Order: sequence, then structure tokens, then C-alpha cells
Amino acid sequence: MNPRYEVVIGLEVHVQLTTKTKIFCSCSKDFGQQPNSQTCPVCLGLPGALPVLNKQVVEDAIKAGLATNCQIAPRSIFARKNYFYPDLPKGYQISQFELPICEHGCLKIETEEDGLKKIGITRIHMEEDAGKLLHSDGSSSSVDLNRACTPLLEIVSEPDMRSADDAIAYLKQLHQTVVYLGVCDGNMEEGSFRCDANVSIRPWGQVELGTRAELKNLNSFRLIKQAIEYEVERQADLIDEGGKVVQETRLFDADSGTTRSMRGKEEAHDYRYFPDPDLVPLVVSDDWIAAVRDGLPELPAAKLARYQEELGLPAYDAGVISAEREVAEYFEALVALHGNAKLCANWVMGDVLRSLNEKAIPVTECPVSPEQLAGVLRRIDDNTISGKIAKTVFDEIWQTGKTADQVIDEKGLKQVSDTGAIEAILDEVIAANQGQFEELKGGKEKLVGFFVGQVMKASKGKANPGMVNQLLQKKLSAE
Ligand code: ADP
Ligand code: MG
Ligand code: ZN
Repeated sequence: MNPRYEVVIGLEVHVQLTTKTKIFCSCSKDFGQQPNSQTCPVCLGLPGALPVLNKQVVEDAIKAGLATNCQIAPRSIFARKNYFYPDLPKGYQISQFELPICEHGCLKIETEEDGLKKIGITRIHMEEDAGKLLHSDGSSSSVDLNRACTPLLEIVSEPDMRSADDAIAYLKQLHQTVVYLGVCDGNMEEGSFRCDANVSIRPWGQVELGTRAELKNLNSFRLIKQAIEYEVERQADLIDEGGKVVQETRLFDADSGTTRSMRGKEEAHDYRYFPDPDLVPLVVSDDWIAAVRDGLPELPAAKLARYQEELGLPAYDAGVISAEREVAEYFEALVALHGNAKLCANWVMGDVLRSLNEKAIPVTECPVSPEQLAGVLRRIDDNTISGKIAKTVFDEIWQTGKTADQVIDEKGLKQVSDTGAIEAILDEVIAANQGQFEELKGGKEKLVGFFVGQVMKASKGKANPGMVNQLLQKKLSAE
């Protein structure tokens, strides 16, 4: 909390969609290709070329709207946003202005100071991206229009956030939501999920909003937090010194951690929005909305609650596992096969995620399938192997792709539960550690662990530890 002023933040997020083709033509959105190779008369803005709306974009917008509790407009309109820039061949961007596809939504975020907090979502609209300018040697620039006409959703929040932490919590949740929905790949560095932050401050108790600055060029959560915090201090210092915040767009500079003016209100564009005569109003039927709703995946917040309530997982485990959709799917497949949710959670959070992280492999390519892992857990349950040997079995499956039973057989990893065999090892261990055995008999209980450990070691982890313990107790009471 800033002690001097109340902070007010509203965010505009641009989400690049994962559709195969562009929003108004059938060109591929495949990037990293030869400049201007993914283009056609429509996305090049050639006169007479007519846009045709990509149905998948509408469907993705509806998904995002439903997942953020928006109302989906039965009828919405595409508008031309007019401005000149060399990366925009038509001289206007097709966007939505009045009557966007989604309005009046919200996301709930967890905050440290105020607990659960509702952040309003003003609107979500569909629009096309512009191309890219390539500045080569300073004397001239080239234009690459491969990105032109790439589908975007713009998600605009209410000015409901009161700190940089609120803003980050909201953004992380929105990011997680669109990635879960599969409508966005979430890559912030590559610009698939970008955010402009509107920041203002006001004296505590004042109802009216202060004048805002809009921050641009923020491409990671860390930089967004840094930029907002810097901007709040800048505005507070300015007002304290008797100055006034002016409404402007400011560019964040990651190297210096500061923001600087890019353009003021006077230079702001007048976009002269008007309905695009080339596109008919978009009509979305109730049936279509219902069908999209039926197809929505269970979202992270719902999973988080269900894992705790139905599966009895601790909040921490539920949070780690529900954070990524593919991890949650792996876990759920495992629980369906094995049943002991806590044991499954331990394995997923432990060996599975650790090994995947070490090797930088996504869970969808995990070399140990849920079926193979369930095979390991079953052999722990029936005492064929100990929990410790199970880790060896897991690693071996990872390397070879075999089943748990194959690995256990071939490597001779079966737990020794044969009383005679274990007793023989125990006798050897006692003989080799007479001194400690005397101390144990004298009441030094701590040494139980030592003896069990020695037997486990001598048996290469294969002795059944429960039986070792029993046999040791038997020997002690017999003495
Ligand atoms: P524009 O399109 O010109 O940026 P909008 O009215 O659409 O203007 O507002 C954009 C964003 O700015 C919204 O997320 C809104 O919540 C936020 N916003 C508006 N006024 C303020 C303010 N005074 N302080 C902080 N954020 C604000
Ligand atoms: Mg804006
Ligand atoms: Zn095209």
C-alpha cells in the first residue's frame, strides 16, 4: 500500500490466438517464415479484397468471455479504427468499438491485504494485428506483413486494481485462463500475451479517479510490476512537488527501470471509428454459446477447489498440480488408475515434475506414462518394492520405456520379505556392529534406525523395512 496516495490500475491485455489461419483470410499464421510469404490480397490490404471472418476466432472469443464471466453479445459489430502507420497497409485496423462480443465480466483474484477480490472486465473484443517494421541500417526500413491480420483478443479491465501486486495477480490468472482454454500459447516474450497498464493515483478517500498514464512495452510479469511501481512513485513525487500528472502514453525502459513520455493527449489519435461496411454484423446464437460452454475445460480455480474438497489434497499440492492444464490431466489420469490421490500427487510433484524440469521436457512428452507410473505404485502397495526402490524403477522406466513389472523382474528388485534371508543379513550386521548393539540393548532407541539402515544398505534397498524392524525387535526382546 502506498501510504501517501491510493493507487488505481486498469489493464488492457492483447491475447494472440492460436488459430491456424488469420482472422479475415486463410493465410497461415506460421511465423519465422520468409517476410511477406504468409500474405494474400486481404492481409496486404489490396483494394477490392474483402475480409471473411474466421469462425474459430469468434469461438475463441466466446470461450474467453465465458471463462471470465462475461455476457456474450447476440449481435456485435466490427469497426474500422483509422490511423496511418507503414505496418498497416489498409490505413485502418479492423477492430470492435461499439457492441464488442463480450462485456461485463470479472475475475476473482487472491490478494494478501484484502483476501478474495473481484476485478471487473469491461469488454473483450476481436481485432487484427498489424505487420512489423524491420529497421535494418538506419537509412531505410522494410515492412513484413506476415503478422498483419493475425487474430487478437483485447481484454480490457475496469480500474479495479489497487497495487502492482493486484495487477500481477489478475494478469497471472488471466494468462492461466487463456492458456488453459487453449486459445493462446501464453508466450509473453514473443508477444502472444501483452499488456498495457493504465496507472493513476488519488488522495485517500477521493472518489474521482486521478489522471492516468498508460504504460507500454511491458513483456514480462516482473517488468510490469517494476514499471507500475516506478510510475506510482513518479506520480506521487510529482504531485508532492505541486505538479500535475498529465494524461499520456509512457514507454517503459527495462534497462533503466523508468518510464518516459511517448506521446501526450494532444498527440493522441482520433481514430474516427465507424462500422466496417465490408463485414456484416456478427450474430451469435444461444445454441452456439451453449455448445461452446459445454466444450469448456474445467478451469484452474475449479480444479483447485475440487482437488481439495473431493480428493482431499492440501491446498499447496492442489495449487501446484492445477497450475498447468497438462500436468492436471496427467495427475487425473494417474488418479483414475490408482486412486490414492495423495500418493499420486506426491509422485507427480516429486519425481515426475522434477525429472521433467531437469530435462526441460513438457509433461505431454513424459517418457513415463500415467499407466506405467500406476504400475509402479501398485507394486509399492502390494509390498513388492519399497518406496525407495520405486524411484529406481521409475528412472529405469524413464530410460527404457518398459513396464514396472518388467523392470522389477529383470533387475531383480523384488523386495525381500523372506524372514530367513533378512535374519541372515541382520545377524551379519549385528556381528559387525557389536558395540552399537550393546548400546541399543542398553536403551539407546535411536540406534534402531541405524540397524534398519544397515540392513537396507546390505540388501541394496530390497529388504522389507517393516520386517527388518520386527526381526530386530524380536532379537532385542529375546536377549
Ligand atoms: P483508452 O482506450 O483510451 O485507453 P479506456 O477508457 O478504454 O481508454 O481505458 C483503458 C483502460 O484504462 C481500462 O482498463 C480502464 O480501466 C483504465 N483506466 C481508465 N481510467 C483510469 C484511471 N484514471 N486510472 C487507472 N486506470 C484507468
Ligand atoms: Mg488504452
Ligand atoms: Zn492473407
